[in-house]
Amino acid sequence: MSVITVGSMAFDAIETPFGKVDKIVGGAATYIAYAASNFVTPVQQISIVGYDFPKEELDALKKRGVQLDGVEIVPDKKSFFWSGKYHSDMNSRDTLITDLNVLADFKPVVPDSFQGAEFVMLGNLSPDVQLSVINQLKIRPKLIVIDTMNFWMDIALDGLKEVLKKVDVLLVNDGEARQLSGEYSLVKAARSILKMGPKFLIIKKGEHGALLFHENHVFCAPALPLEEVFDPTGAGDTFAGGFIGYLAKTKDISFENMKTAIIVGSALASFCVEKFGPERLKEVTKEDINTRLAEFVQLANFDIDLV
Ligand code: AMP
Repeated sequence: MSVITVGSMAFDAIETPFGKVDKIVGGAATYIAYAASNFVTPVQQISIVGYDFPKEELDALKKRGVQLDGVEIVPDKKSFFWSGKYHSDMNSRDTLITDLNVLADFKPVVPDSFQGAEFVMLGNLSPDVQLSVINQLKIRPKLIVIDTMNFWMDIALDGLKEVLKKVDVLLVNDGEARQLSGEYSLVKAARSILKMGPKFLIIKKGEHGALLFHENHVFCAPALPLEEVFDPTGAGDTFAGGFIGYLAKTKDISFENMKTAIIVGSALASFCVEKFGPERLKEVTKEDINTRLAEFVQLANFDIDLV
């Protein structure tokens, strides 16, 4: 069983109320790969980096079962660089710098050895890049999941709508669901988005958890109330990696199993925010994940007598 992951690999500079790093490895595909590789290997990565991307970081991913045949290394350009600063409540941030560098000319190529993957996670990139990957797949995967953001809704809405017709699961946050649908109510927004193509919609609500919509069903997953959130960067991508990794491991794409998968995604995201960048994800063990999953079960578990 393999999972194809597509997305940025980056250097990030991050400032939160608790500290600051000038250069740490990040990027959506990095977080997705670290999270998914807890459950499934190989993770087949498609991305692009420059000459400056550390070999040790690529080796660390390889050691976890991440295949990098689809990662282009451009010898004369720098890696994508992103810098962000979080507000004091940690729920919002300002993007300070986006230097596309290699990402500006990213033309993803799906290696022959990746053909036949049953699960595909398309991280937040331009709809053209996402579509190009889908169109190169010779066999329709069992499940295609995409992440996107308001930026693409602003500048490439038609392209995004084309992609939505071809995917199974869309991941967005609440503001993006409202923007895409033009509806304030998330229930109405979900109904409208599910008509655009995806059979499942996940609306992420940051520290308030996530909602999963499918046909007329809805499931609400909590986020673990954490004592300390150190750096939320990559939490959404980590959630996505945990979600698809668990589905690939269990090979079950039913609504019932997706409920568990979003709890697994939330558990992985709760680790991600504990340290800068993907540092915490690198050290998390199976036991850590199971302990945290048990905390999730306790969090939302109650008995009730009907009144
Ligand atoms: P998240 O916190 O889930 O939004 O993801 C943060 C990661 O996304 C960072 O590691 C950035 O390197 C990466 N990122 C930020 N902006 C972009 C962009 N425009 N395209 C691709 N990746 C990005």
